[in-house]
Amino acid sequence: MSVDPLAFVRPCIARMEAYVPGEQPGTGGFIKLNTNENPYPPPAAVLERIRAACNGDLRLYPDASAREVRCRLATLFGVPMETTIVGNGSDELLSIILRAFVDPGQTVAFPTPTYSYYHQLVQTQGGQIRTVDFPDDYALPAGLARTGARVLLLANPNAPSGTLLPLAQVAELAERCAGMLVLDEAYVDFATEGGVRLFERHPNVIVLRTMSKSFSLAGMRIGFGFAVPEIIAQLWKIKDHYNLNRLSLVAAAAALDHIDAMRANARRIGQTRAALTGALRDLGFRVWDSQANFVLAQRQTPPAKILYEALKSRRILVRFFDQPRLRDCLRITVGTPEQVARLVAELDDLIRHP
Ligand SMILES: *Cc1c(COP(=O)(O)O)cnc(C)c1O
Repeated sequence: MSVDPLAFVRPCIARMEAYVPGEQPGTGGFIKLNTNENPYPPPAAVLERIRAACNGDLRLYPDASAREVRCRLATLFGVPMETTIVGNGSDELLSIILRAFVDPGQTVAFPTPTYSYYHQLVQTQGGQIRTVDFPDDYALPAGLARTGARVLLLANPNAPSGTLLPLAQVAELAERCAGMLVLDEAYVDFATEGGVRLFERHPNVIVLRTMSKSFSLAGMRIGFGFAVPEIIAQLWKIKDHYNLNRLSLVAAAAALDHIDAMRANARRIGQTRAALTGALRDLGFRVWDSQANFVLAQRQTPPAKILYEALKSRRILVRFFDQPRLRDCLRITVGTPEQVARLVAELDDLIRHP
């Protein structure tokens, strides 16, 4: 007897559209300004520690408690180790959090437009998505605290706008919302303030960080979570025991030992961001004030989709979103000054000679 294997797929999965990550061209010499990676390599000392860890010990499982990394996080942020957890990227931590808090039918709210992967994460749990539109200036939507959602997801700085909500407003949201507040601080090292320790006064807050952007380690898949120990203990039950491999654990510890290099890169990127923002505004783009390593730029003519395609044919990748709220928008990662100069020159040419 033949059965239809698709008949056994959970309906919420069958209905769900797959997340589409930014393109990762293997070849072609692209200037890659489409996935918010860091244009600068990790420090040589970090690469050396990873290479040194490529030895016979790889036959052994990694440290399931990630002690070396969590110990450094505790020192760096001045929090107890019991308030920390590491993930295979912060994407894994998001997934663990939703598995811990969301049963089928329960509501998860987030302001939009934001990191679109939140949709798949909630749908995988069979959760109910409740979106609240950001206003045009990406201020905190008044209705967000009143959704009654079990979990609120808030990327701050937000993607793809790059805008930052003041920490005082986030704290107030934590106070007023009826559930958990997950503060996704993937881009916070490029911003003026962050809220790692918000959970100390607001036990319904979980803060997430990542080494993918500011630490130049997207390829190693390392994320951090911070919450009260009782919450961390619940998340711990769900995570794969060995969610970070030995090389990632070494890379994370080494990168935290060389945090000054990350901070110097973040400063350089901040300076290049200011130059890019100014140049795009001179070209007639509307650019939101970004506190991240990318900017959102809007211009009606030529249409953003045409610009995106023309840039691609000139070997520059940026992100275009086919969404009504992001009409005529490009999200452009802040690269090196040289990459940004190339991009601006090409855009100038495309706008002058459409
Ligand atoms: C990049 C990003 C993530 C995922 O980071 P990883 O640590 O690479 O999984 C999560 N949230 C936001 C808003 C991001 O931009």
